[in-house]
Amino acid sequence: DVNIIPYSEPKQADEESILVLLYDISKVKHLEVVRTEFVANASHELRTPVTAIKGFAETLMDGAIEDTQMAKQFIQIIYNESNRLETLIHDILELSRIENETHIDVIETFDLVKVTQEMVAFFQERAEQKDIRIQTELPEAPILLSVDQHRVEQILRNLIENAIKYSGNESEVDVTVYSNHHRATIIVSDTGIGIPEQDQERIFERFYRVDKGRSRHSGGTGLGLSIVRNLVNVLGGSITVESELGVGSTFIVTLPL
Ligand code: ADP
Repeated sequence: DVNIIPYSEPKQADEESILVLLYDISKVKHLEVVRTEFVANASHELRTPVTAIKGFAETLMDGAIEDTQMAKQFIQIIYNESNRLETLIHDILELSRIENETHIDVIETFDLVKVTQEMVAFFQERAEQKDIRIQTELPEAPILLSVDQHRVEQILRNLIENAIKYSGNESEVDVTVYSNHHRATIIVSDTGIGIPEQDQERIFERFYRVDKGRSRHSGGTGLGLSIVRNLVNVLGGSITVESELGVGSTFIVTLPL
């Protein structure tokens, strides 16, 4: 995409010159496209639960409320869709907050090992409901990080939650943490459904889901991994994924110490 802008400047009397300025605007254009796409996707995602809430409330008002059984069912749907709306709004705001941050202002020192243990304990009940065993491999010594603890918690939360969500019953989730060469590494690995190779790059995009139906059914917004990637970037780290369809997925996060 090339924009040609005529440029003229007084020339020296006896010298002919041509000045060519090349601006690469592809990055700006790309950002514009990404933003427009995000707004379109967000509008669509937000509209879906609102349409359901409105529709079921209208049906109730039109008389369905008289049928107690039906009314109960519709109110449950309205409640579930409101929850979904709440999660979506939360994730969208969170994402835009992280993206607009230019500096880290909350600095505290905490132990990554302890925070990981607490996060695993938090998910224990949810894992047990699916007979999933969460195994941890953690060092004895603390790993001290001096960044906003909430960001690291959120990275762990989203990765462990996905590992459980996208795994079948009676499977295993492994959470490993170690440090070396001034880096801390977090590995969340599952023996779940896996991610097709062609989707592995795209799962970090906003609203991208391999299986929309499955993600929505389990309360997913398609924003979790894009929040994780943004958080990792803000913290100066990296994230990669290794996965095989039907075998499982491994997410590897490294953070500077
Ligand atoms: P969602 O809210 O849909 O879970 P995410 O951004 O967290 O959104 O993940 C994007 C998509 O990546 C998911 O919809 C799912 O298809 C895929 N995915 C993420 N984590 C895993 C995993 N551990 N195993 C298999 N697929 C995964």
